[in-house]
Amino acid sequence: REAKQIPQRFLFYKPYMSKGIADRILLEQDLHNALENQEFYLDYQPQVNLKTGTVESVEALVRWRHPTRGFIPPDVFIPIAEECGLIIPLGKWILETACMQAKTWERQGLPQMKVAVNLSLGQLFQQDLVEMVEHILQRTNLEPKFLQLEITESMTMNIDQMTQLLHELKALGIQIAVDDFGTGYSSLSYLKDFPIDCLKIDRTFVRNVPNNPNDEALVSMIISMAKHLRLKVVAEGIEEVEQLSFLIEGGCDYIQGYLFSKPISPQQISETFSELHRHVENVLTPLQYNEDYMI
Ligand code: C2E
Ligand code: MG
Ligand code: MG
Ligand code: MG
Repeated sequence: REAKQIPQRFLFYKPYMSKGIADRILLEQDLHNALENQEFYLDYQPQVNLKTGTVESVEALVRWRHPTRGFIPPDVFIPIAEECGLIIPLGKWILETACMQAKTWERQGLPQMKVAVNLSLGQLFQQDLVEMVEHILQRTNLEPKFLQLEITESMTMNIDQMTQLLHELKALGIQIAVDDFGTGYSSLSYLKDFPIDCLKIDRTFVRNVPNNPNDEALVSMIISMAKHLRLKVVAEGIEEVEQLSFLIEGGCDYIQGYLFSKPISPQQISETFSELHRHVENVLTPLQYNEDYMI
């Protein structure tokens, strides 16, 4: 029996695995030139304040337009960039581009929006991360309160080191959010030590709301916990009005999802800004937002 299983597994894995690895090596090679060749760009996804119905912030999301393979999603290339160290220059480029963009929108006459930028684990270990952020804020002239850095629970770092780093970042005047909240299997105790401003509820919790009582319970619990800790809550990945309605009743502060807008180019943000607000208003009005729900 055993003897039979091994070759079967081998046959099953071989074509699949070897292609995967070869693919990865090729991608890694291309990744090294991608920054220089200007193949990366950022899209921005609006975050809507449910109380005011306005877009107060956007999340910057990196994309790679590969010269022959076309679009490659960040879930594929960020982990490779992490492994080969490219995340350091790439992360710097992302941060600088996003901060510059926030200033460009301001010059174009848009209300000033906060820009949220994802950090990756490799960047947390970057020796000069705090200085880099500080210099970028100075160079781009962006007021620190308009920058939010997103970290995730799965970024395993010594808790004292992390607390210290986040305090240094906070001292610059920027905001910190915990992304994909609830998916990291980590203890909740960090919530009282880390100087964070915002929790982003992961899409996997919100996906089956309002049909799954367990997910409903978890989402309500996260929102209520955030309120008690005086943190803002963003729900990610909202696609349906029913989900939105549930979150409004629960007192969620911000929504980010296809229901309002997919991630779009910076030009689309400025060109469709008023259209986007009309759309948001049309979606929110029938839901009869009740102020009493807010804490
Ligand atoms: P994330 O930071 O949690 O970003 C949210 C992801 O959910 C984005 O995918 C966004 O397009 C997607 N999303 C938003 N609303 C909806 C919705 O209503 N429905 C569905 N199905 N999806 C929605 P994206 O852009 O593919 O990014 C995936 C992940 O890649 C990000 O998750 C983040 O972890 C990473 N990533 C993206 N950009 C960057 C970056 O600039 N730096 C770093 N370090 N990581 C990044
Ligand atoms: Mg994020
Ligand atoms: Mg997320
Ligand atoms: Mg994610």
